[in-house]
Amino acid sequence: YLITFEGPDGAGKTTVLHEVIKQVAPELKQPYIITREPGGSKISENIRQIILDPTNQEMDAKTEALLYAASRSQHVSEIMRPALHEGKIIFSDRFVDSSLAYQGMGRNLGIKEVKAINDFATGHLEPDLTLFLDIDPAQGLARIKKLRPDQEDRLEQEKLEFHKKVYQGYKEVERMYPDRIKNIDASASLAEVVAQSVKIIKKQLPE
Ligand code: C5P
Ligand code: MG
Repeated sequence: YLITFEGPDGAGKTTVLHEVIKQVAPELKQPYIITREPGGSKISENIRQIILDPTNQEMDAKTEALLYAASRSQHVSEIMRPALHEGKIIFSDRFVDSSLAYQGMGRNLGIKEVKAINDFATGHLEPDLTLFLDIDPAQGLARIKKLRPDQEDRLEQEKLEFHKKVYQGYKEVERMYPDRIKNIDASASLAEVVAQSVKIIKKQLPE
C-alpha cells in the first residue's frame, strides 16, 4: 500500500509525514517503510545530488525531468516494488506527482509528456493514496525563509513565478486523480494538518 505526500516547497511534507507516522504506526497491522524522492536508495540519492547541485543551474529541463525519472526508476525497482511485494506500507515524501507539477508545469514540459516518461520509469506504479498538502506557494516560500534560510537562495533563484506554476500543476494533477488525491489545508497549524492526515489515512488503510 503506497501513500505519498505531495505539495509545494514549504508545505510541511517531511515534518507532517514523520508526525503522522508517530500516531499511525502503533495501529498498523503491516510493517512499514519511510522513504523520499528524489532519493530513497543509494543510486537515487546520488542522482539527487546531481539534480540539486547549485553549480548545475543551467541544466536543461528535459535532462532534469529524465534525471528525476531515472532516480525514481531505481527507487521503485530497488525499494518500492520489493516492499509492496512483502505487503509493507510505504510512506513516501514526494513521488510522480511532484514531477508532473515541477517539470511538467513548472518547467513547461507538459504534464502528459512528463507522465509518459514516468510511466516508463515506474512501470505505471500508482500510489493508493496521496495527501496533497495545499499551501499558497508564496506562503510556502515564506516558511522556508524562516525555517531553512540555508535553502532560501536556491529556491529564490527559481522565483515566485516558477512556484506559482508548480502550484497550478499540482491543482491540475489533483483534478486528474480526484479519487486518489486528498486535499489538506496546509496553512493550518501543524497539529491540525497532522490530525487531518491521520484521520484520512486511518479511514483508507487496508485491513
Ligand atoms: O522535498 P525536498 O525539499 O526534498 O525536494 C528538494 C527540492 O527539489 C525541492 O526544493 C523542489 O523544489 C525540488 N524538486 C523539483 N522537482 C521534483 C521534486 C523536487 O524541482 N520533481
Ligand atoms: Mg521536505
